[in-house]
Amino acid sequence: MRERLYRVEAIVLKRTDHGEADRLLTLFTPDLGKMRAIAKGARKPSSRKSGHVELFAHTHLLVAKGKQLDVVTQADTLDAFLPLRENLERVGYAYYLAELVDKFSEEGTENRAVFDLLLHALAALGDATNDPDLLARFFELRVLQYVGYRPQLFNCIHCGKAIEPQENYFSAEAGGVLDPECVQTQREQIAGRAYDAQPISLNALKLLRYLQTREWGTVRGLRVAERGDAMSEVETLMLRYITHHLERNLKSVEFLREVKQPNA
Ligand SMILES: [Zn+2]
Repeated sequence: MRERLYRVEAIVLKRTDHGEADRLLTLFTPDLGKMRAIAKGARKPSSRKSGHVELFAHTHLLVAKGKQLDVVTQADTLDAFLPLRENLERVGYAYYLAELVDKFSEEGTENRAVFDLLLHALAALGDATNDPDLLARFFELRVLQYVGYRPQLFNCIHCGKAIEPQENYFSAEAGGVLDPECVQTQREQIAGRAYDAQPISLNALKLLRYLQTREWGTVRGLRVAERGDAMSEVETLMLRYITHHLERNLKSVEFLREVKQPNA
């Protein structure tokens, strides 16, 4: 049982209007996982103190247990991630990362690794020397790993053989790569249907493996020439994989497309 009043460290994933003047916060915490709480009077201009909590902010909250929803009674911001707020495109990425964490998390399920990942990623987004696209792809692979949807990229998901350096296939439904032989066999056996397998280039597979197995400190230094033309292929493929496992579309993807600088 939680105390009637308890303290919690949290990142604000989402804020929605609630009633006349309140806000409903979706929070991600290191110990309680995802949770929701009401910030009373948070939309009144005078309420700077009690429940004023910025979206994406890393905060310390004092929360009172409520009958239905708990209520934030005090909020102290640890980091508002101000540098990322100066750039609408980066705010768009922050929406995307927060929505991924929100949609892949159940309320009350602790996942410290996801909390740390999000905290570090929001800080990294504010650093202009980091490529936000590369960060988003890195984040996707990590978050999938931490919630149990790590795509298999090294062995054929069907026969288990090591993947050869050739054009292979990727299936969101099967959960990773398939070699051409297995896709062929599947097509013959099940009247043309081989999962949702789509061709994946060798460069895209290499990039995915790199993102999955390296730390951000290494990944961030990956030069454009080394990524080749694989970035957009990986983006499309990851979005398909994520949408398949969530069984729904992400709202932030459309917003991000709108605010993304055309030549970025
Ligand atoms: Zn196979």
